[in-house]
Amino acid sequence: MNSMLSSHTYAERLARARAEMKRCGVDAMILSLGHDMPYLMGYLAMPLERLTMLVIPQDGEASLIIPRLEGPRVHQMNDVFTMVPWNETEDPVAIAHTLLGSAQTIAVGDQMWSRFLVDLLVHRPNAKYVRSVTVMEALRSRKDAAEIAALVAAGAAADRVAAQLHAGDIPMVGRTEAEVSADISARLIAEGHQKVNFAIVAAGENAASPHHHAGDRVIQYGEIVLCDFGGTMNGYCSDITRCVHIGDVPQDIADAYAVLLRAQAAGVSAGVVGSSCENVDAVTRAIIDEAGYGEYFVHRTGHGIGMEEHEDPYMVSGNTTPIAPGHAYSVEPGIYVPGKWGMRLEDIVVATENGPMAVNHANHQLVVLNR
Ligand code: ZN
Ligand code: ZN
Ligand code: ZN
Repeated sequence: MNSMLSSHTYAERLARARAEMKRCGVDAMILSLGHDMPYLMGYLAMPLERLTMLVIPQDGEASLIIPRLEGPRVHQMNDVFTMVPWNETEDPVAIAHTLLGSAQTIAVGDQMWSRFLVDLLVHRPNAKYVRSVTVMEALRSRKDAAEIAALVAAGAAADRVAAQLHAGDIPMVGRTEAEVSADISARLIAEGHQKVNFAIVAAGENAASPHHHAGDRVIQYGEIVLCDFGGTMNGYCSDITRCVHIGDVPQDIADAYAVLLRAQAAGVSAGVVGSSCENVDAVTRAIIDEAGYGEYFVHRTGHGIGMEEHEDPYMVSGNTTPIAPGHAYSVEPGIYVPGKWGMRLEDIVVATENGPMAVNHANHQLVVLNR
């Protein structure tokens, strides 16, 4: 990913990260793979064996340790960070150790390869290590106006694909789940995504497996088909789930879907600033429990979304984090009857001072298709 924002924005984000480090008693933060680093300076590290690491002292300038051959990929911003290229025969972890100076408490990016952390532990056995989420959650979980605009645009593109699905533009009967998945993926790209992150297509009893991998199962007339898809557009993710039914809907599925629809809408409405993340989960679960499907709702209600498909905050029992303006997350309750069928309904929501703002507007009904 190339940097898309001004160096001023990145400098500002780094300043906020440093303030948060100070508040949390973190002396330095080291980031590598994952999205904390591009959030702060625009560059997404290559997931390879050579170390790329952004070292951010709480009170000192940030340095990007990078393999010399990958240096040209980086958009340099002298007011944001200094490049520290390393040669093939150098030990980049030793360079990191030097740059860390006297830091005692070090925040480490979740997705940094453990091999580099293990090597660093040899250099600094007595340092205290914490996860970078301690510092970064406050920044990344609350989206600014530009980030919300990107999420809305990605969501609108996913909605257009959902509309094509509902219109019957994507034939189902006689095709494999994998074929339909490839079709949905191509449409996500055609609608403006640069990358498809997943396109789950699960027919009939396969829909009872929430993270089913689209396979060679042929879709039949008379089945429910669960489609959960999303991708990345201009650095931000979409994620939507809609179910369609091929032919008339049997009573048991219609009854369950009515409950799911109610639960999901209630979950969206529950996203009120000051309420808790776990309350969103409690609200959808109560409706599904009360209708007698509680044992079939086997996952949390939602996850935060932004540069990553799944990130903080999570809408799950035990997460007492208060919902704050700029929190962006999914509301996606499901009902899964093993061996029979499954259903899920998912929208992305952004919390605002004026109440929850839905990112997705595609038809929420169980649309009936005939082919
Ligand atoms: Zn999922
Ligand atoms: Zn999701
Ligand atoms: Zn999803």
